[in-house]
Amino acid sequence: MNRRNFFLHSAITVAAVSPLQAGARSPAASPGRPDALGVLHDSVRCIGCRKCEAGCQKVNADILPTPDKFKSPEPSFYHRSVMDKKRYPDFQRYTVVNRYRMKGRLPIYRKFQCNHCIEPACASACFVKALYKTPEGPVLYRPELCVGCRYCMIACPFYVPAYDYDNALNPLIYKCTMCAPRISQGLSTGCVDACPKEALTLGRRAELLQIARRRMAENPELYVDHIYGEHEVGGTCWLYLSPVSHKALDQPDLGKTPAPEPVSGILASAGIAAGILPVLFGAAAYIIRRREKCADAARFGKTAGKADAAVPNLKCSDKEGRQ
Ligand code: SF4
Ligand code: SF4
Ligand code: SF4
Repeated sequence: MNRRNFFLHSAITVAAVSPLQAGARSPAASPGRPDALGVLHDSVRCIGCRKCEAGCQKVNADILPTPDKFKSPEPSFYHRSVMDKKRYPDFQRYTVVNRYRMKGRLPIYRKFQCNHCIEPACASACFVKALYKTPEGPVLYRPELCVGCRYCMIACPFYVPAYDYDNALNPLIYKCTMCAPRISQGLSTGCVDACPKEALTLGRRAELLQIARRRMAENPELYVDHIYGEHEVGGTCWLYLSPVSHKALDQPDLGKTPAPEPVSGILASAGIAAGILPVLFGAAAYIIRRREKCADAARFGKTAGKADAAVPNLKCSDKEGRQ
């Protein structure tokens, strides 16, 4: 049994005896919970092969509305040319791997998906509790409760939740599930299973932190002394090791404070909700579309177009657009 499988086995043992349960802000999901499941991504080991992306598509082919294999313009998961642009998870793919070129170094790769925050801002913002934190670690989504307000998209500090604008009848939110259905059956995640370099490790958060610290101690010249996700926004279940500053890999400095307390209590208040929700939905839709225009402008080097002229005080910036 190799190291990956050892930790996978111990993680699955925990998960399998405790079925995933709903529980936004349950006591078990308190900050720093050591036995929550998570994944460590090590950019020192990652070779950017994108097999994790392919593995994710394979195990989620029945869930994603138009998985890459049917619709993507990307010719193959094994083409690196798609990494010429920075990419984001969206409703066709729960995860992407981005490439970072730096002078005097080989390229560095960083996997990008939901971080399954210990205190998830998306769940806090969701006043119908369609998004919720499970005690086992994954942050999950109940489409039957979702009202399509997209507050989760605004609230997430990592710009992860995606919306299927192509589906006019029943648009839903899409994001990585940490393969909760597979984990609860004693299986690994699609991405961890597919990684040929053990750059991804599934395990309990406390074990992953130990592994990360050991790697840093054994090879201090290879790693920066920072495990991204250990403390950021109260801690996340996905953790990251890097040979360069995490900021250089588009992992922003978000501080250690979890997201604000839920706005759901305010929004759910009778009276307020009835009158204000339509206005807020409209504002949310505007802000999200605006963010996406800014993100597209940043990605493709264009201006955001007419929306800028209509709202002269709203400038595209890195902070406003997706990271
Ligand atoms: S990364 Fe975003 S979508 Fe994922 S749990 Fe955290 S706040 Fe929610
Ligand atoms: S944990 Fe599952 S859903 Fe999330 S990126 Fe990996 S394979 Fe995809
Ligand atoms: S499969 Fe592993 S090595 Fe390949 S890109 Fe994904 S994380 Fe990196």
